[in-house]
Amino acid sequence: MKAIRNVASYLFGAGALGRVEEVLRTDPRVPAGPVVYLVDHFFAGHTAPLDKLPRRAMDRLVFIDTTHEPSTGQVDQVAAGLRSDLGGLPAVIVGMGGGATLDMAKAVSNLLTNGGQASDYQGWDLVKVPGVYKIGVPTLSGTGSETSRTCVLTNYETGVKLGMNSDHSVFDQLILDPELTATVPREQYFHTGLDTYFHCMETLNGRTRNGIVDAYSEKAIELCRQVFLQGDMQDQASREKLMIASLMGGAAAGNTGLVHPLSAGLSVVLGVHHGLANCLAMGPLAEYYPAEHAEFTAMARAQGIVLPTGLGAKLSEEQIAKLHASCIVHEKPLSNHLGDDFKAILTPAKMAALFRAM
Ligand code: ZN
Repeated sequence: MKAIRNVASYLFGAGALGRVEEVLRTDPRVPAGPVVYLVDHFFAGHTAPLDKLPRRAMDRLVFIDTTHEPSTGQVDQVAAGLRSDLGGLPAVIVGMGGGATLDMAKAVSNLLTNGGQASDYQGWDLVKVPGVYKIGVPTLSGTGSETSRTCVLTNYETGVKLGMNSDHSVFDQLILDPELTATVPREQYFHTGLDTYFHCMETLNGRTRNGIVDAYSEKAIELCRQVFLQGDMQDQASREKLMIASLMGGAAAGNTGLVHPLSAGLSVVLGVHHGLANCLAMGPLAEYYPAEHAEFTAMARAQGIVLPTGLGAKLSEEQIAKLHASCIVHEKPLSNHLGDDFKAILTPAKMAALFRAM
């Protein structure tokens, strides 16, 4: 049994982004001093929302390149750049973007106060002291990064994809504005939104359970059904619901099952982004998740989303071996679904067949 830390303060509703200045200036919890905005580079070309961020001479705005998923090297670089530019620590970090940007904001915040290198903190409860005060502004719903206690980083030198799992990785505040997800491309909106569906259904199908996590997961799945099975997933009501589902899924963040380990393999070996990788991973898993597989397929059909096929046929033997290696290391989720003898079930041949079927 372990105490759960949640985000302390939420501001939720259409137009919430316009309240950033009020939060920064009047909320007694927010420390005074330089504010650093870490913003998804998507907004370098779509600057309208940035006009709502109050920027004084002492503040900084840094675009985060999210072409690839966040790396330890990128965190080291951003933190070092801020240290030398400001000549000290910022008072507040505001992360604005999808899961990759939010994870970067959390990791940079931790690194700035803890010192050393980002890779020193990949693992469980290695972050020693609280990071810089951090506020999350999600612009994409589904990853749950806004409420989770981790920030997933890939160390390209060692090939390790592992988060800074720590209570210190939890945002201090969130500003949740469903208007921000109105312009997300439909495919990306679907792939990322389904991330929360997968987190929650994997948790509910697993052996490690917790009543609170289950309750959050059940509600998040119910909201996903309302969003994806009928009507337009991206109308205003659906955007609000998906934003809520995402934060519940992140707060639940239980142990996953089979989708996430297979998905991690696709990301590490082939560079497929997390949301799409999950959807591809679910493709051959009907035998393990029959009801959810049918539901996922119905969701894609209802929203007119066509998922890519034929990936498996193009994989080389070497790639299959690498995919197996980077999937089988995820012992906690694999045993959560299959039991302790998961290696006897997910043999190299079985795993190859699953990847070939994608
Ligand atoms: Zn995920």
